[in-house]
Amino acid sequence: MKVGALALQGDFREHLAMLASLGVQGVEVRTPEELAAVDALIIPGGESTTIGKLADLYGLIDPIRRRVAEGMPILGTCAGMIFLASGTTGPDQPQLAVLDVVVERNAFGRQVESFEADLAIAGRDEPVHAVFIRAPWIHKTGAAVEVLASVVDPANGEDRPVVVRQGNILATSFHPELIGETWIHELLVEAVAAG
Ligand code: GLN
Repeated sequence: MKVGALALQGDFREHLAMLASLGVQGVEVRTPEELAAVDALIIPGGESTTIGKLADLYGLIDPIRRRVAEGMPILGTCAGMIFLASGTTGPDQPQLAVLDVVVERNAFGRQVESFEADLAIAGRDEPVHAVFIRAPWIHKTGAAVEVLASVVDPANGEDRPVVVRQGNILATSFHPELIGETWIHELLVEAVAAG
């Protein structure tokens, strides 16, 4: 099994270290040829507009969409979630539009650019420690999207999804890769093993 990390911008090295800690071979992906050689793909955190523009420049957008449509497991964290999504509440930016959600970028406001929380995850006994860094949350989900964890919007008490799954697509608003939190990488690896 070979899992790729999109290595255009952002914290792809931390994802590769997580894969190594699970005994899974991780490789950097920058070209359509490298994409064709992996069984799954991780889109890291970073800056989603930059990742989108570079992915477009490297001719990766349509090849990634095709692999996702064929069932390749894919995980996006933070900026990676934004890049997977079908839209944002802000101006247009390059997106894969494979995950049927609208995200709000930097949703936690300028005052709280970064914070940590213990989150309950659907289907898991243990809470997960989450590190949010200028993180998005999900503003709107489509019917096929399963919400695995949410936070409460302090403005109105509404739940805002921060971990979702839609078939072979997994996304988190936060950064499990920065603190060695392995559960979501394990889910990705299990999806490859099952497929
Ligand atoms: N704020 C970034 C964006 O909107 C995402 C931040 C992150 O990946 N930690 O692209």
